[in-house]
Amino acid sequence: MTGLAPDGGLLIPESIPNISDQLDYWATLSYQDVTFEVLRLYVDLPDDDLRTLINDSYAAFSHEEIAPAMPVGDIEILELFHGPTLAFKDIALQFLGNFFEYTLEHRDQYLNILAATSGDTGSAAIHGVRGKDRINIFVMHPKGRVAPLQERQMTTVLDDNVFNLAVDGTFDDCQRIMKTLFCDLPFKAQYGLGAVNSVNWARVLTQIVYYFTAGLYVMKQRQVSNIRFAVPTGNFGDILAGYYAARMGLPISKLVLATNENDILSRFFRTGEYSLGEVVPTISPSMDIQVASNFERYLYYQVDESPEVLRDLIEQFGETGRLQIPLPSDGVVDPLFAAGVGNTEQTLATIRRYYQDYGYLLDPHTAVGIAVGEPFHKKDEPLVALATAHPAKFSQAILDATGEDLAYHEYLEALRDAPTRSDEVANEVDAVRAYIENHVKPV
Ligand SMILES: *Cc1c(COP(=O)(O)O)cnc(C)c1O
Repeated sequence: MTGLAPDGGLLIPESIPNISDQLDYWATLSYQDVTFEVLRLYVDLPDDDLRTLINDSYAAFSHEEIAPAMPVGDIEILELFHGPTLAFKDIALQFLGNFFEYTLEHRDQYLNILAATSGDTGSAAIHGVRGKDRINIFVMHPKGRVAPLQERQMTTVLDDNVFNLAVDGTFDDCQRIMKTLFCDLPFKAQYGLGAVNSVNWARVLTQIVYYFTAGLYVMKQRQVSNIRFAVPTGNFGDILAGYYAARMGLPISKLVLATNENDILSRFFRTGEYSLGEVVPTISPSMDIQVASNFERYLYYQVDESPEVLRDLIEQFGETGRLQIPLPSDGVVDPLFAAGVGNTEQTLATIRRYYQDYGYLLDPHTAVGIAVGEPFHKKDEPLVALATAHPAKFSQAILDATGEDLAYHEYLEALRDAPTRSDEVANEVDAVRAYIENHVKPV
């Protein structure tokens, strides 16, 4: 249930199990059953309890396959947006809410979750834990910088255990406040503070599942033995799960990392240099991030699993805003990865083209992934593009791209007139600390 480890680092599994000899069997299983197979490798729970948690968590999804893959044009689109907030983060956070409540009941404990969001994480986290008896959730969002509908998806949740904090700053400010509070160990211990942000290991774990279900399904359908994924990314969470799936034995021949103009990650995979840039607002706001909180996990494997080397690099990055890894002689950072930027113009053009040619509406994050990923599609190594949000969440981008107001979802329509609740908080660690002290659940 911990986000950051006590020393401020990230938790990783002691070892990565290889299941390549199980792939034929996994290809026959349902989404829930593959989830069970993946989680039991890492999670120490009685089988029946784990199955119940999984079944309860995915019951809230509106598609029976949970995450269906659809052939569109040459590629496959993996729809990850059939959960209650219409974005891929539900896949992890619906499970997490149930898993945390289960664990807290067994330990007779309570938990106060602190989260920072640029959009989707917050609403998905809130919907994952709303109404849970043993959990409070405090979600910081950058005031006025979240798409209005995304904001309403958070602030219309009126359950007693849900607190929305509108912080007068950027998403990176929110994340900095969160990290500072988590490093204040006495405070963290006193209030039983936990995280559900994308650094949470259990989130990465549940996201490994759909690489297997989609990868195995498409390989079987197309009778090929390799698969590629295009992943729009900001915090390096989603694509990290793909990296673990590859390490576990899924034959992924390419992970195509796609950023918007906030390109710290795509620059890294092309040059080996990881250096801060300015955060610029784009039409794919959930990826407007210049410090990728999960990247450190990947970097650990890149430096031959040396905690000392990693610590030095991260310290250097903290001091100078820049780090550089030594490159092999061929200059390729990692042959598993390809990387690129889908800028606003390309993103809009991709949305327009997919609508005109195939009658399929892409949300702007998904379109960034496809704009960068499409050239990597091969007949014998087909591309699966991760669709991370329903287009109705970003209807302005659809209007800008197609000239028509096409994106619609009844769930979002219902939010327009719903009552909301949130509190404004100054962009200061102490202001957030005081707010939490005034509203916590006794631990
Ligand atoms: C969070 C999010 C992303 C980026 O995912 P990361 O795990 O942070 O890389 C992409 N698209 C949407 C719609 C998101 O909500």
